[in-house]
Amino acid sequence: MKIGVLALQGAVAEHIQMLSELGVSAFPIRLPTQLNSIEGLVIPGGESTTISKLLRDYQFIQPLQELASQGFPLMGTCAGMILLAKKATEFPWQTIGAIDIEVKRNAFGRQIDSFEADLTIPVLGDTSYHGIFIRAPIIEKVSEEVNILCRFNGSVVAVQQGTAIACAFHPELTDDSRIHAYFLNMITGETIVQGSSR
Ligand code: GLN
Repeated sequence: MKIGVLALQGAVAEHIQMLSELGVSAFPIRLPTQLNSIEGLVIPGGESTTISKLLRDYQFIQPLQELASQGFPLMGTCAGMILLAKKATEFPWQTIGAIDIEVKRNAFGRQIDSFEADLTIPVLGDTSYHGIFIRAPIIEKVSEEVNILCRFNGSVVAVQQGTAIACAFHPELTDDSRIHAYFLNMITGETIVQGSSR
């Protein structure tokens, strides 16, 4: 299976490494024409304003919106989640809108307020998931079509709508590959890889 990682800015290499460890062919996507050769796309964390401007400059927005409307598998982490959201408050840049949520950027405070926490994510099984939150957004509104995958202290921090998933934290910065495995298994419709919490 070929999976792309949007490589305009942000934590690209870490996602590629984790996907490669799960046995898929993962590579950076720098131009919209490369979208034709992949079966799913990860949008990494980074700076959502920068990534959004680059999405516009490299003319990614329309092809990604079209793919999203066709059910193309997308996964967004942190800034990537902001870009997948239908709406981001106080964010004058364009988003892809693949998931019908409204997000709030930097909802836990500034860089210094970044934190780690053990999360309960039922679709990943009973073992808790160590979430790394770096100037993370939260999901303030969720439409009926959206499945909530995880809440932390009452706030929604991971969701899925159809074949698009998003989380406010950074699974690529942990040793826990279960979220990436969940994404890959969702694409194939069967369990092809077993993520591990190591
Ligand atoms: N605060 C960043 C933003 O709004 C996201 C941070 C991250 O991706 N780690 O874009």
